[in-house]
Amino acid sequence: MKEYYDLVIVGGGMVGASLACALMPVLESLDLNIAVIESYPLPEEEALSFQPSYDARSTALAYGSRTIYEQMGVWDVLKTHLSAIKNIHVSDKGHFGVTRLSAEKEKVAALGYVVENQWLGRVLLDHLRRADTTRLDFICPANVTGIQSSASLMEVFLTTESTKHKLNCELVVMADGGRSSLREQMGISYTQTTYEQHAVIANVSADRGHQNVAYERFTDKGPMALLPLEDEGGYHRSALVWTVPDESVDDVLGIDDQAFMALLHERFGYRAGNFIKVGERASYPLKLTVADEQVRQGVVVLGNAAHSLHPIAGQGFNLALRGVVALVDTLVYAKKQNKSLGDLALLQNFYDRQKGDQERTIGFSDRTMKLFSNNQPLLALGRNLGLQLLDVCPPAKTVLARSAMGLDMPAPELK
Ligand SMILES: Cc1cc2nc3c(=O)[nH]c(=O)nc-3n(C[C@H](O)[C@H](O)[C@H](O)COP(=O)(O)OP(=O)(O)OC[C@H]3O[C@@H](n4cnc5c(N)ncnc54)[C@H](O)[C@@H]3O)c2cc1C
Repeated sequence: MKEYYDLVIVGGGMVGASLACALMPVLESLDLNIAVIESYPLPEEEALSFQPSYDARSTALAYGSRTIYEQMGVWDVLKTHLSAIKNIHVSDKGHFGVTRLSAEKEKVAALGYVVENQWLGRVLLDHLRRADTTRLDFICPANVTGIQSSASLMEVFLTTESTKHKLNCELVVMADGGRSSLREQMGISYTQTTYEQHAVIANVSADRGHQNVAYERFTDKGPMALLPLEDEGGYHRSALVWTVPDESVDDVLGIDDQAFMALLHERFGYRAGNFIKVGERASYPLKLTVADEQVRQGVVVLGNAAHSLHPIAGQGFNLALRGVVALVDTLVYAKKQNKSLGDLALLQNFYDRQKGDQERTIGFSDRTMKLFSNNQPLLALGRNLGLQLLDVCPPAKTVLARSAMGLDMPAPELK
């Protein structure tokens, strides 16, 4: 651990580790020294990592995120354990509307990719660990307890085991997740609305292969998604994200596997086959949280600490990854202009460019969620007509597919 870094990233989760990977190629040429501080112990090399960011969940990566990981140089490894989404099937329980999107019809290799968070974590952390550089320190396990500005620098306070340390840097990136304690400590307010729902996640197996189909199903109790995963141990697997009202979450978690699969069939139907096995279940409270202030002199709030979304549209991490690229772009520019990485005008400019993307993405997932959670008969009729119309209207489907793939805007380019 050095006493001074140009940049300190708090949180080595999916977003913090992605930012460090994105900066690696320019550390030498820009004369940058960076540190990533993570409170959970770094897992053994080659072992799957168990930490909040890399738990049993899976993430649907938009096609645009593939481009970003290709530019970082991690895609070739990442793709060895991914499932491509070739088709998406959208339906509304108890109603007639159905929409089907297909990679073939959209003339792309895949509509997106599903990666297990543990695999993504392992690939990112191994990439950082194997870096042949003294310019990157992974300080772990270490807990950041405070951030303070002093003169022209930032001070970062941390504890490793029982020892206290202080680091100085030009810029602190807070990638410490949705429950960021540093956000409170720094007096950064946020706007939060609860969906009064939990996401129950589990890996489930059916008696037939998923054929690379991702299902999005809206029900009167909340939406659910079933995403294709790699087969394992002779089982066809899919990742289930099942939104349930807060008051039902204990019931859904507490029942035995057979009862869980029966309930799942009742809500989801049999379009993916007969469920025969279910893995460990976990649940996440669902809230829309947006930090009111995402940049300050010497500070950037990134990833879930800046914005956490309803997971059903699979947009939260993809949005954060676009933020990572925009931040790298800003930092490269700052160095080339001989400016401090913490320069407020530059950081404000970074945020202003991000704001439109954030508002669009958050608005899309929030509106989709509310539209499909409403049982008002006229709304239900309207959305089912909409789904049906989409199904027979190729240009409209192309617009939807491109937006789901993150292709409705140019893929951001890493400098
Ligand atoms: C059920 C579910 C399904 C989802 N599916 C999708 C999807 O399909 N597609 C998609 O795009 N998004 C999805 N998301 C969103 C995605 O999971 C998040 O965007 C992503 O996890 C955010 O990562 P993060 O690194 O910002 O935060 P986190 O994953 O919370 O990581 C924060 C890290 O910071 C560390 N940390 C915290 N405090 C400190 C401290 N004081 N000192 C040091 N370290 C600290 C933590 O240990 C952790 O490792 C889903 C979310 C949920 C809940």
